[in-house]
Amino acid sequence: MRKFSADYVFPISGAPIPNGIVTIDDDGTIVNVSSASEAQDTSSDIQQLKGILCPGFVNTHCHLELSHLRAQVSENKGMTGFITELIGKRGNFSEEEIQQKIATAEQEMICNGIVAVGDISNNNSTFKQKAKGNLAYHTFIEIFSMDPSKAEQVFRAGKKLENEFSEVLHLTSHISISPHAPYTMSVELLNLINEDAKNNKNIITIHNQESEGENQLFESNSGVMYETFKTMGINPAFMRKTGQNALTSTLPYLKDAKKILLVHNTFTTKEDLLWIKSNVSNLISQIYFCTCPNANLYIENKLPNYQLFINENCKVTIGTDSLASNWSLSVLDELKTISKHHPEIELNTLLTWATKNGAEFLEFNQLGTLEKGKKPGLNLLKNTDEMRLTEKTNVLKIV
Ligand SMILES: [Zn+2]
Repeated sequence: MRKFSADYVFPISGAPIPNGIVTIDDDGTIVNVSSASEAQDTSSDIQQLKGILCPGFVNTHCHLELSHLRAQVSENKGMTGFITELIGKRGNFSEEEIQQKIATAEQEMICNGIVAVGDISNNNSTFKQKAKGNLAYHTFIEIFSMDPSKAEQVFRAGKKLENEFSEVLHLTSHISISPHAPYTMSVELLNLINEDAKNNKNIITIHNQESEGENQLFESNSGVMYETFKTMGINPAFMRKTGQNALTSTLPYLKDAKKILLVHNTFTTKEDLLWIKSNVSNLISQIYFCTCPNANLYIENKLPNYQLFINENCKVTIGTDSLASNWSLSVLDELKTISKHHPEIELNTLLTWATKNGAEFLEFNQLGTLEKGKKPGLNLLKNTDEMRLTEKTNVLKIV
């Protein structure tokens, strides 16, 4: 058993505790969280730490399989520029190189205090690494096709990959088939995913409103994404013109998923959130909102309007996205970016996004808060300015 005290303990299940003490078992189980006065413990075996103690971080959106593309795709090219460059770069690496970069990227996440990951898989390249059990993962098998006649075939390939995952990891939980993004899906394929989610009580994820062009494609079959897709030879008939935006054109088709994580939401408006609120009673799903601020700066150089999500009491989570569109795989780096642009957002709110909300969405019930009986990991945030993150703040994984 070990005891740690710090300037502040953020249990996330309750208010921050100045000079709090965390008692933790040898296997990482929380035994007690208290203030110094409650503890009545004057024993010298308490390890005094400088900074803030909080639960291990949950990264709800990553593409571990793209780790070999670090620094390969140029910054600030916009969403369509990013996709075009990514497709061009994807094939130029050996399997050995890809595996090695995946292992290094996982190690980077562990060092950065991440304890669980919601990871997107388009192929099987991360399965062996995940089988080692170094980190808790929920794997989203991502599928896409705009061609309605290909829906069955693409869905079957997703199921095959899902089965392969279960065989390699001897695991049938923490895996689900998910749609890539509104603009890469036919209604037929969305329906198949929804049916699968209904039958298996799946949580699913989808990239949402990462660029303005996505909304324009749906609203009026116009804009940079529509034009780029046409140039790429995609049949314009496959680009759904609904007169509504990307979100409202897509979410109703996923109404039977247990929970949905919308990722990015850079161009999501107050009207969209109100639409979700008024329609969510028709949806079985609970909607969570993942933000990947550094990837947004990398690709579009724009951040979501966080105050909207706070005002509407939305459940926000943090994602790093992939090393193809980010400089690091660090939840803390994402929080520092948000804090820099929005110093008015309290640290307890940011840490709730980075821990509890993600653990809740991904259904890792042992993670997310410093509560008796849980095994959430323990991070020390050093070089903070009282209860504020600074450029110099770093994270040390304690447990
Ligand atoms: Zn992504």
